[in-house]
Amino acid sequence: MTYDLIIVGGGIGGSALAAVMARAGRSVLLLEKTTVYEDKVRGEWIAPWGVTETKRLGLYDTLVAAGGHHLTSHVTYDETRDPAAAEASALPLGIFAPDVPGPLCIRHPVHCQTLFDTAAAAGATALRGVEVKAIACGSAPSVTYFYDGAEHVAHAPLVVGAEGRQSAVRRAAGLTLHQDKPHHWFAGLLVDGVDAWDQTRQAIGTEDDFAFLAFPQGGGRMRVYGGWHLSETKRFAGSEGPARFLEAFRMKSAPHNAAIAGGTPASPLFAYYNNSSAADRPYAPGAVLVGDAGGWNDPILGLGLSITYRDVRSVSDILKETPAGAEPDFRSYAAERAERMRRLKIAAEIQATLDMEFGEPARARRRRYHEQSALDPTLGLHGVATMAGPEAVPPEIFEPAHVARVVGAPMVAA
Ligand SMILES: Cc1cc2nc3c(=O)[nH]c(=O)nc-3n(C[C@H](O)[C@H](O)[C@H](O)COP(=O)(O)OP(=O)(O)OC[C@H]3O[C@@H](n4cnc5c(N)ncnc54)[C@H](O)[C@@H]3O)c2cc1C
Repeated sequence: MTYDLIIVGGGIGGSALAAVMARAGRSVLLLEKTTVYEDKVRGEWIAPWGVTETKRLGLYDTLVAAGGHHLTSHVTYDETRDPAAAEASALPLGIFAPDVPGPLCIRHPVHCQTLFDTAAAAGATALRGVEVKAIACGSAPSVTYFYDGAEHVAHAPLVVGAEGRQSAVRRAAGLTLHQDKPHHWFAGLLVDGVDAWDQTRQAIGTEDDFAFLAFPQGGGRMRVYGGWHLSETKRFAGSEGPARFLEAFRMKSAPHNAAIAGGTPASPLFAYYNNSSAADRPYAPGAVLVGDAGGWNDPILGLGLSITYRDVRSVSDILKETPAGAEPDFRSYAAERAERMRRLKIAAEIQATLDMEFGEPARARRRRYHEQSALDPTLGLHGVATMAGPEAVPPEIFEPAHVARVVGAPMVAA
């Protein structure tokens, strides 16, 4: 029961890291709580820079073989824009990363299962239905867990926390999570029968008191998200919630949304409040965190998967370079992650302020933004950071002066 690495959480980050490290010849124990990956309505769009990370990790072909679907164009609709003009200025999505045609969509449960199977095939000891009882970090890390009717204790020089937002490894390592104030409600639904929608085109838009994002998954299936004001806690609650949610997509400014509104719900409708967060540090003696466990970006940008894949690459590179018996040095990972998350948090704040605030002042701000960014594309560089990665744009984009240029003076909270 002694391994090179114990990974708690067999979702995206944990399974990807297990696969990469097992392929590198390390003995890996991967512990996943669930026996079936359920649709929690999250994480099905990988940004172009995240796709590059999957390639660097040697996982891209596996994801495509499992049904990965590329999107190649983007339209931003808005109540202040003519829909035909919005479509005429559709953005090609193959421009943001070399040899990447655009974002990659793959259903989250399929994505997790594919990576978990890849880890097991690469030689990791990959267990499902595990109940973790205790985690020790520090100089003699161990994980005590219940599996197959018995309690076990496994030891390794390092325990990885990859179990998402409620990370037990983070707590055991004494690392604190700092969460920002929520900005808006955000809910997602999988919708079937949206055959009339161009399957390679994603879209976003805001009208009245609702904003939407739509990502075709191929074959007439779409993952759609909607955002609305924090005060309307129960807006889409109850058994009629999914029907009301789909109805909210009918917008004069986004005529193709009628196809979404006429579709059939194919998942539960889950609502989350959107915010960003950060752990003090993504590592401590005997422990390292990847993915949401280390803090997350506001899902308005849809970057949690790309962030997680970057984490996995950084951590796996460090582990592969660390001589046997030596303690890995995660300082470069911590520094790069902190700056990456700082930039992405600001990009998310800009996007949420523009798209997820409602009423006349917010409408006027969006009108001004769309008019001015057509003349001065630097106003939209937060979007380039989303697609191409936060390091792909100049650092000034994340300074208060630039933010004020894009969204105006700081707004009252939504
Ligand atoms: C509404 C919403 C929409 C989103 N949309 C997108 C998107 O389109 N694109 C994008 O990139 N990101 C998106 N995200 C974020 C993305 O889903 C996450 O950032 C990503 O899944 C994080 O991966 P992870 O491996 O850290 O955690 P998870 O995917 O949450 O995996 C954690 C795993 O750990 C397991 N686990 C938990 N506790 C334990 C335990 N005690 N013991 C063992 N196992 C445990 C869980 O069962 C799970 O399998 C969205 C998030 C939300 C909330």
